[in-house]
Amino acid sequence: MGWNCIEDISYGGEARLSGTMTRKTVKIAKGCTHELHYFSTEEINIFQTCLLAWYSKNKRRLPWREIAEVEEDENKRGYCVWVSEIMLQQTQVATVISYYNRWMEKFPTVKTLSQGTLEDVHKLWAGLGYYSRGTRLLEGAKKIEDQMNGQVPQSSSELIKIPGIGRYTACAVASIAYGERKGVVDGNVLRVMTRLRLIGSDVTNQETVEHIWSLADQVVDQDRPGDFNQAVMELGAAVCLPRNPLCAACPISSICKAFERTRIPKPKNKNRKEKASSLYDIEDCHLCLPKENPFVTADGVQNYPRKKKKTAAREQKYFVYIVHKKEKEFLVFQRPSEGLFANLWEFPCIEADEEMKDSIFLETIGIKTSAAIKCGETFHKLSHINQYYIVNELKVDGDSQILLPSTHQKMEWLTEEKIKSSVASTAMKKIFQEWKNKLEKTVKPEIRRKRKADSKISGGDMKRQPSINSFFKAE
Ligand code: SF4
Ligand SMILES: [Zn+2]
Repeated sequence: MGWNCIEDISYGGEARLSGTMTRKTVKIAKGCTHELHYFSTEEINIFQTCLLAWYSKNKRRLPWREIAEVEEDENKRGYCVWVSEIMLQQTQVATVISYYNRWMEKFPTVKTLSQGTLEDVHKLWAGLGYYSRGTRLLEGAKKIEDQMNGQVPQSSSELIKIPGIGRYTACAVASIAYGERKGVVDGNVLRVMTRLRLIGSDVTNQETVEHIWSLADQVVDQDRPGDFNQAVMELGAAVCLPRNPLCAACPISSICKAFERTRIPKPKNKNRKEKASSLYDIEDCHLCLPKENPFVTADGVQNYPRKKKKTAAREQKYFVYIVHKKEKEFLVFQRPSEGLFANLWEFPCIEADEEMKDSIFLETIGIKTSAAIKCGETFHKLSHINQYYIVNELKVDGDSQILLPSTHQKMEWLTEEKIKSSVASTAMKKIFQEWKNKLEKTVKPEIRRKRKADSKISGGDMKRQPSINSFFKAE
């Protein structure tokens, strides 16, 4: 058989090596794809043996890996891997280590976490981004304690029922902590797989993603699934890099189709070039590079993976108000528990649109607008929104009555002390800095000198007490 239907493919055995394949022998039927996109049994053997040998030599010693290897308490093992996996979705390994260690000191078990508060969790999460992931960890621990006898589920099919655990985390925890034979797909695995199997279709497309998941399940080592999954991810992070991958140092380059493709001699004329290309890309195949966006020789293996071009980020303008009582207390509202920046604290802020004027917004929270002074602009970029903030300052009297907007959960006047223990978004930190900068510029030099002298006279206490400014710089 010269071609395989996705439905018919028998993983781990049937797909043939395609080294001798020519255009003549490859037939594509609707809904089918060609052999290049699967692994043969021989390739799977090479993949597992070479990658695990490389991993044993090169793996980084990380706290959660050591626990997964030596911890005999199964519940603790699963919990530790779960926490590490959620944190690793946020940022680089090097950054996660200190967050992870602090977390484990405060919440060493599922039980201790289930008894924690959202405030505790947010404090430990500050700086990692996406606070909702920390919130879900807390919800997950509560569910395990309340509904599962305090036992972390050991299979991916059960783990996925826990809040905040998706397909990737369920398979990662089940394979690493409990040895379930499940593959995983994250950004690193996706890149490695698309290069190994010349998958050039859009990786945001569900069909492409499903194919990569099926490959991950196909190749995962039966005896060491956890090590194998971590090894593929580590290969993606350290060798098969998005830009300038280190193919010469790659332990599995012998089975890499993208690498093979970059090594075919340059054809001298256009016809031959097309012929060479047709060995790898077939017009009707829904996993090959698209005809309208073909292989670019200069990009080499970086032709894979392919992503549809992002739609342009939306522009949004906001008015934000630093409302304060003599620069000592600052008004903040807590955002709703769902949606963008869920549960975070923010200064009074409103989107600039025609329906609700900023002056009306201020009136609804009980503030007279006439005293507002514009003090600058701040830009903050999210993946899908470019946010422009017009920053204003408003001094209010000590007895001002402010009303909580119906969209928000709580209202606080935060002093330096209290602000230290609350959580605000990065955008709000930038805004505060903008206001501080403006303040510094406008305060007369003699007042600045006096403030400095005052802070010295106040002695140790002032030194120990971090300023509001340092809080906003902390993340
Ligand atoms: S040979 Fe290069 S492209 Fe292929 S898997 Fe290794 S590093 Fe990635
Ligand atoms: Zn194809």
